[in-house]
Amino acid sequence: MLISLTHKTFKALLFPALCEFHLKFVSYSTMSQPKRYFLNKLNDYGGEEISVSENEWKQKLLQVVNVIKERQPPRVHDADGGLYVGVGGIGYMFYFLSQSPLCSVEKADFVKKGLNYIDASLSYIDSHKGDHSQKSAFLLGYAGIYAVAAVLNNSAGNKEAAEKYLRKYIKAADNCMPVHYLRCGGDELLVGRAGYLSGALWLEKELGKGTIPPKIMKNLCDSMIQSGREYARKYKSPCPLMFAYYDTEYLGAAHGLSTILQMILTVPGYLQSDPKAEFDVRTSVDYLLNLQTASGNFPCATDELGRRARSESDELVHWCHGAPGVVYLMAKAYLHWKDEKYLQACIKCGDIVWNKGLLKKGPGICHGVAGNAYVFLLLYRLTNDKKYLHRAQAFAQFMFTSEFEKGARTPDCPFSLYEGWAGSACFLADLARPQSAAFPFLDVF
Ligand SMILES: [Zn+2]
Repeated sequence: MLISLTHKTFKALLFPALCEFHLKFVSYSTMSQPKRYFLNKLNDYGGEEISVSENEWKQKLLQVVNVIKERQPPRVHDADGGLYVGVGGIGYMFYFLSQSPLCSVEKADFVKKGLNYIDASLSYIDSHKGDHSQKSAFLLGYAGIYAVAAVLNNSAGNKEAAEKYLRKYIKAADNCMPVHYLRCGGDELLVGRAGYLSGALWLEKELGKGTIPPKIMKNLCDSMIQSGREYARKYKSPCPLMFAYYDTEYLGAAHGLSTILQMILTVPGYLQSDPKAEFDVRTSVDYLLNLQTASGNFPCATDELGRRARSESDELVHWCHGAPGVVYLMAKAYLHWKDEKYLQACIKCGDIVWNKGLLKKGPGICHGVAGNAYVFLLLYRLTNDKKYLHRAQAFAQFMFTSEFEKGARTPDCPFSLYEGWAGSACFLADLARPQSAAFPFLDVF
């Protein structure tokens, strides 16, 4: 579902079958099966003690990593698509794994490998310098690559290089500061200000508070608030803050309202400093909350509300569109305002993900099984209820079954961070250490 533009340049990655992980996806009959997901025949939690074997999942993730290394080397011509589907996302995976206590033995090797992948992306940027629209884009553009290059170089002890890329990241904020800097809409997560802020917050987590000047984050929030108010007024939206991306008012994580609000909520001290902004943000969160369906999902966009709603058989339960992405906003709202209704919304998200979340689109975190399984790791951290650890592990095991092998489709970029196995590897590492699990760049804790 996510912008086909991104994938155009990545078509025809025709890899041979991968016996190690049975990634040899084949076509299958859809008779009596739902279109978008596998029927969940997994046992739900029955109150038993849950054990997650660190060693077992570590071995699995190392096998996944070996397949990625073998099938997707760090080639410059595979760097288009930023962290999202370009090889830079694999650089992020290596960095993420290098920071996990689970992979302390492999740490130095993973940092080195991560640098190889991110260097390919940096070379790609060097040969495409004229494209200003990509400068401040996080998941689909250059800023995300600079951020990952900064932390990898910092980890390798290359302080000068780390500072150089950090300066490039900070400078890129100038690009997305003007309220109307992108005609297609510059507030969302993949190319817009919300993405830039998610990267800024992540850099602060990795490199320490004060890494990004607080004024930059505050000014970006101001631009987003102004942009949302202006748009809402102009188009008479019932929501005080509304945004469009290519003329569609998306509501979910990838291009929509939920991650824009989440980032404004996450910037330290911002809402406390501006009560009017807090009022509008909270009213907007509640507007979105009221759109949650009886089964727990969220519509993709405002043009799918009321009579124009998708049928239940066609609804999207993806991180990019639907409950598995909006859940992070609701979790952040719960932690910020301590109102139980947001937690109840998260729990409802968890139920629809359990019922309809075994996606046929592949293993990835954007619209795949691992992305949906991350919802259970979030709920486990929020509630401490073992049911969610059980569900996360059950989804992980499903990714290695013959049912998934035969019935799932091969994503355009099968080893990438958001569509492919690189994101799944991050999920497996988080499953083995669930107390600190967080969806990439969307940590709410
Ligand atoms: Zn997606």
